[in-house]
Amino acid sequence: MHEHDHSSTDHDHSSLDRRDLLRGAVVLGIGAAGATIATAPAVAAPAAPAGAAPAAPGRAADAPPSLAPDPEAPADAPPGAAAGVEVAAPTIASCATWGAAAARGTIDTVATNPNKILIHHTASANVTDYSQAAGYQIARDIQQWHFANGWVDTGQHLTVSRGGYVMEGRHGSLSRLQNGSGTVVGAHAPGQNSQAIGIENQGTYTSATPPAQLWSRLVELCAYICDQYGIAPTQIYGHRDYTATACPGDVLYSMLPQLRSEVAAALSGTSWSVIVDNTSAGFSAGSSWLTSSFSGERYGADYRYATPAEVSDLATYSATIPSSGSYRVEAWFPGIAGYNTSTPFIVYTGTGSSTIRVDQSTGGGAWLSLGTYAMTAGTRTVVAVSRWTQGTAYVVADAIRITRL
Ligand SMILES: [Zn+2]
Repeated sequence: MHEHDHSSTDHDHSSLDRRDLLRGAVVLGIGAAGATIATAPAVAAPAAPAGAAPAAPGRAADAPPSLAPDPEAPADAPPGAAAGVEVAAPTIASCATWGAAAARGTIDTVATNPNKILIHHTASANVTDYSQAAGYQIARDIQQWHFANGWVDTGQHLTVSRGGYVMEGRHGSLSRLQNGSGTVVGAHAPGQNSQAIGIENQGTYTSATPPAQLWSRLVELCAYICDQYGIAPTQIYGHRDYTATACPGDVLYSMLPQLRSEVAAALSGTSWSVIVDNTSAGFSAGSSWLTSSFSGERYGADYRYATPAEVSDLATYSATIPSSGSYRVEAWFPGIAGYNTSTPFIVYTGTGSSTIRVDQSTGGGAWLSLGTYAMTAGTRTVVAVSRWTQGTAYVVADAIRITRL
């Protein structure tokens, strides 16, 4: 959360109570559910202007569909970006897609490109429902909190949910980002609102660590913003660097050097990659993991599957990480209705591990990012698939790909 760009201190205190109440409603309103992560590395086309409200001055900031770029087209190389670099954009849900209310007044714009990115946290509950629906609901709640501040619209330009869903914040932010030209004036940090892109990360990171899905999307989003606007990765800051505030929380703030580093790596292109299939020498699984060639979405000849059980019976992928650095880890599996919606994938970095829950009932037959990780060099198990999840639907181990950034 953050201070206001133009509202009074009194607004601050009265609106804080309302926000807390709304947060309570958020916590009560959403149950735990399996996590999913976004799949398509393409920009969602912004829909037509949301709502049926008559066009008021400033509402023209909404992007008509024709402004959506062709995801296949090479990215423009703005000033300051390396020539020829193409940065994949994360899927970004427009205001219309996540159900934003119409803005309540004129949204100012600036023609000059922003020169930095400011990282925030929303200081809302660290929900365990990582679904797209939960992320969209919190975005709608945030917009209402910001209306309660007397603001015309959501304060920040972009939002990332704990499940890794990226959303447009203030109306008009997305089309300008996609065009790489100018932005809307936000309300996220006094003195910086017309020159800094504000990104709100849903949750509170004073002592908690951002979920892997959120982090992965945040890196991709920042890289895309830097590429589109010609912003150097060194120009990524925390809200507290410009305003006396705890935002974005001690933990997330302490990760900003890592964020700058991973964004720089994402902008530098790829140079090494390896695929480990279930038929490769680096793959290992016990006899409970059966073999199937049922789905045409498989990678290679076949894949392995097993029933969920509370046992330590991993299917493992070993690889040689050539040097310490930042790596993207992806998984390929057939997506079949009836396969598990919450399959645990474990990524081992050499110094620790992260578990990512993957919905294998859909989105198969393509590389799905499990995130970006700082890895140490060496030969070891890098990825494992666990049977330890709920339900009776099969968990599937097919192929993984590791790419140095
Ligand atoms: Zn903030």
